[in-house]
Amino acid sequence: MRIFTASLATETNTFSPVPTDMNAFKAAFYAGPGDHPDTPTLCSSVVPILRRRGRAEGLTVIEGTSCWAEPAGLIQRRTFETLRDRILDELRAALPVDAVVLGLHGAMVAQGYDDPEGDLLQRVRAIVGPDVLIAAEFDPHSHLTDRRLDNLDLMATFLEFPHTDFEERGEHVVDLALRTLRGEIKPVISTFDCRMITIYPTSREPMRSFIDRLKAMEGRDGILSISVIHGFMAGDVPDMGTRIVVVTDDDKTSGDRLAEKLGHELYGLRRQAAMPMSDTEAGLDRAVALRAERPDVPVVIADVWDNPGGGVAGDATHILRRMIERGFENVAVATIWDPIAVSFCHAAGEGAELALRLGGKSGPQGGEPLDLRVTVEAVFDAGWQSFRNSQVTLGAAAVVRPLGTTLDIVLITSRTQTYEPDIFANQGIDFTQKAFLLVKSTNHFHAGFQPVSSEIVYIAAPTSYPTDPATTPYQKASLGLWPRVADPLGLET
Ligand SMILES: [Zn+2]
Repeated sequence: MRIFTASLATETNTFSPVPTDMNAFKAAFYAGPGDHPDTPTLCSSVVPILRRRGRAEGLTVIEGTSCWAEPAGLIQRRTFETLRDRILDELRAALPVDAVVLGLHGAMVAQGYDDPEGDLLQRVRAIVGPDVLIAAEFDPHSHLTDRRLDNLDLMATFLEFPHTDFEERGEHVVDLALRTLRGEIKPVISTFDCRMITIYPTSREPMRSFIDRLKAMEGRDGILSISVIHGFMAGDVPDMGTRIVVVTDDDKTSGDRLAEKLGHELYGLRRQAAMPMSDTEAGLDRAVALRAERPDVPVVIADVWDNPGGGVAGDATHILRRMIERGFENVAVATIWDPIAVSFCHAAGEGAELALRLGGKSGPQGGEPLDLRVTVEAVFDAGWQSFRNSQVTLGAAAVVRPLGTTLDIVLITSRTQTYEPDIFANQGIDFTQKAFLLVKSTNHFHAGFQPVSSEIVYIAAPTSYPTDPATTPYQKASLGLWPRVADPLGLET
């Protein structure tokens, strides 16, 4: 049995001021054929999983290129076409194959391409013909198009947000693909369009129970797989929105019925799904009150929308400025993306004192730069943090402390959201002794930070992320979705 596998992934925020080019892929994650590490990355976990299963089960696995760019703005046309064509050439060279298993994200947008994954899958289908199995794993923060469905035999997304199950779901996709190749099952995809868009953290109710129920249904009564496409509200494309995907063992009628039923249930949860968020002042007030109640453990303050994982620059200063102005002490901040400031810190050296213009450089939405006199506490050629089993680079990094304060600020050059508390520890900051930890992430930080904090305060502060789909000036996305329309499915009478 011969299986080709590759991964091409990023998440495109079409409103972001940060363009995506080949360097963005090379800087974040790029592995040529055979060079993928044994540890999986978020969207490429099918590659090392297939490598391992190939050895164990005597399959011939042909690896193509795997790459990932940190989420940002529109992908340069030539970059997408080059990476796409590289993988297609590798596939041609691998022929004949019995299956193609891809690690995709599903929310890429390139110059001239609203559906790059659909374009890639269509070309893969044209190369391998109608009888070869094509399977893919997706991030739930993706779009689902007919073009993808027309060319896929099998798909699944991660179910958890934070995406702690990306390996498990990669294993799930590989497993279903191998069972299909062995003639044990015949996957058929059913979908339902929920006509809505919001965020669906599974770290809290009501999504926790909803996802647990889906998991319990998988593998029974001919149901092979269930996924929720959360959708990605910062991607202005025609198919933006929430979908249910059910894969049955050759039972389209039951699959369609179940997708609709689950879609209606999720639709009923739409007003409760997102976590409650505060504005900056109310959130900081609450953080102070929480610290007074539990002075032994840090309070985590999440800058929910200035999340590089959602494609923005990650250099907004709004909350940090207010914390400095309000006299917050004993704070650790991860992170501010600022290559210029980091280069100044490296040039000045550890222990140096300098005037530093920090953050606020990518655009006006996240606030003005902060002009501070700081001490350079530490510099790193390659800072890093974990995300579960994988390592995430921060690029060249520096830790600075504004004079006369006890605020430690981690500055980075490789944009990334905050995943795990070791983003502080690895950079020499004892986060356990801090009163407040300011992180930039919507929810991926939750798994790592919840155990080390008394509580998490979610603050919705200004940034370039389009946070309110009811008012976002979409040009291409459907405007007939909740929350723009109160009851688009007409289920509330
Ligand atoms: Zn995601």
